[in-house]
Amino acid sequence: MGERYRAVVERIARAAERAGCDPASVTLIGVTKGVDAARVREAMAAGLRDLGENRVQEAVPKIEAVGPGPRWHLVGHLQRNKARLAVGRFQVIHSLDSLRIAEAVDRAAGEDGRRVPVLIEVNVAGETTKYGIAPGAAVDLVGHVLACRSLDPIGLMTVAPPSGDPETVRPVFRELRALRDRLRAEVAGDAFCELSMGMSGDFEVAIEEGATMVRIGRALFGDR
Ligand SMILES: *Cc1c(COP(=O)(O)O)cnc(C)c1O
Repeated sequence: MGERYRAVVERIARAAERAGCDPASVTLIGVTKGVDAARVREAMAAGLRDLGENRVQEAVPKIEAVGPGPRWHLVGHLQRNKARLAVGRFQVIHSLDSLRIAEAVDRAAGEDGRRVPVLIEVNVAGETTKYGIAPGAAVDLVGHVLACRSLDPIGLMTVAPPSGDPETVRPVFRELRALRDRLRAEVAGDAFCELSMGMSGDFEVAIEEGATMVRIGRALFGDR
């Protein structure tokens, strides 16, 4: 585990150098779906601090088993009726993709007296099988999220189409970055700075294109 972790951290650092940015500005999120609590703890012992899960119900017992320490990120689709379960267990939600879900999370967070940092998931490539809003709908949704009392919109997230060659998805990452820059300048302000993009197969290209958060499962934990 330690070796895999160090290899990924090293690859992140080299990609950050190529991009001319500080490696510390890229957060490694270890995606632990299908990984049991014991192995999650091993990864934490190696240094991993940020963990991601994509299904609320599977994550809740694991979050409890792992105990305090890590920062949990919800990276998968959130159903409205799971908003209450998610708030308070996840410190960051990466997958807001509708006003209805934003309102449900806002309500649950407000009742809990919390503020929740959220990212808007964008379906850059327009794949019909994917979650996420169309790029053209982002201005509107970010505006609504800014008006929510208990949500802090901090950036954008995308899942690039699967590809054998990460170069083919570089334009997807570039487009997400351009959209983030535009939203930051026109509606959301400087706090809207995060770009959650890049997975095991493409994270180096994502970092070269400005990723601030990479979500990595297989490269850390092996094939599912
Ligand atoms: C599973 C998952 C990841 C990690 O994928 P790997 O290819 O295993 O690195 C990242 N983001 C999301 C949304 C996921 O569901």
